[in-house]
Amino acid sequence: MSSEGNKRNIRELDYAGICALMEDMGEKKFRAKQLYDWLHVRCADGFDEMSDLSKALRDKLSEYFDATLPKAEQIQESKTDGTKKYLFALKDGQLIEAVKMEYHHGVSVCISTQVGCRMGCAFCASTLGGLVRNLSRAEMLSEVYAITRLEGKRVSNIVMMGIGEPLDNYDEAVSFMHMISDERGLNISARNITISTCGLVPGIMRLAEEKLPVTLALSLHAVSDEKRKKIMPVANSYSIAELMEACDSYFEKTGRRISFEYALIRGENDSDADAAALAGLAGPRRVHVNLIPVNPVTERGLSGPDNGAVRAFLKKLQDAGVTATVRRELGRDIDGACGQLRRKSL
Ligand code: SAH
Repeated sequence: MSSEGNKRNIRELDYAGICALMEDMGEKKFRAKQLYDWLHVRCADGFDEMSDLSKALRDKLSEYFDATLPKAEQIQESKTDGTKKYLFALKDGQLIEAVKMEYHHGVSVCISTQVGCRMGCAFCASTLGGLVRNLSRAEMLSEVYAITRLEGKRVSNIVMMGIGEPLDNYDEAVSFMHMISDERGLNISARNITISTCGLVPGIMRLAEEKLPVTLALSLHAVSDEKRKKIMPVANSYSIAELMEACDSYFEKTGRRISFEYALIRGENDSDADAAALAGLAGPRRVHVNLIPVNPVTERGLSGPDNGAVRAFLKKLQDAGVTATVRRELGRDIDGACGQLRRKSL
């Protein structure tokens, strides 16, 4: 008999895979629907809960497959806004973070897409230890399912803004988005999914062809190649001009507006000239700009501008006709920034 760790995660199988499995096991067709429902709608934590499947079938399945969800090693809850950050342990002991945020329009879950990251952005805690491995689509789905279960609430929005660069794990990330938006699964509309990238141009171009009308968020953070190279190594591979071309093509093909993420770093990218140049990039494209005063990461020695300076930067953009917001700083008191909780637990 195989040990727990060697069993295949059954959530790697899509609907067609579950149908094929049931057929191979000599089960009736409707069993596939039942099993898929337990796995991807009812968010079962193991086969034992699947009370309308026979004990014999459950035993047979658990000989080869695993259906458990990751365990929350730690949960931090914000005292001010109900944001919760989960530290999940995966089957191989790796740790990842996911965050639940509540807005007036529903429950958003921010998921990790990799264990660590190899993009090397200067302000980001997730990249400090480099990339350990990619997450599988099943592991990404399980972050959402585990939180759905723990919270007992329907998740309405997904943001792929946790640890990792989703377009550096392209196939699994796209497959995750297909499965989570599938009507046989949680049925979260693609329009309620945001995928955030540091700007891998070939990935953006590919994504535009997927027939997945998801929102693309580009982590821009600087308005000239020179400045961007100082804080984002990926800028050595793709220029801002190439990025803008990719964004334009994404909009043309999907009809979905892009948003720019812009982490304000004191003395680096927060001048009036920066605001004017950012408005020049965002305005004509009717891009929404999200300003984020950089979350201090002790190892990095960078800090955000004070509140007044953030407001002034925002006003500059708005006066230039750009729709911009300061991202609600949910969960600041709970190591809100990417990768900070995992980092402390290593
Ligand atoms: N790799 C993807 C998604 C993960 S990071 C990307 O780069 O978009 C999610 C967002 O948080 C990105 O915009 C990232 O640049 C930003 N971010 C990372 N560390 C931060 C920090 N210390 N303060 C503010 N924003 C940060």
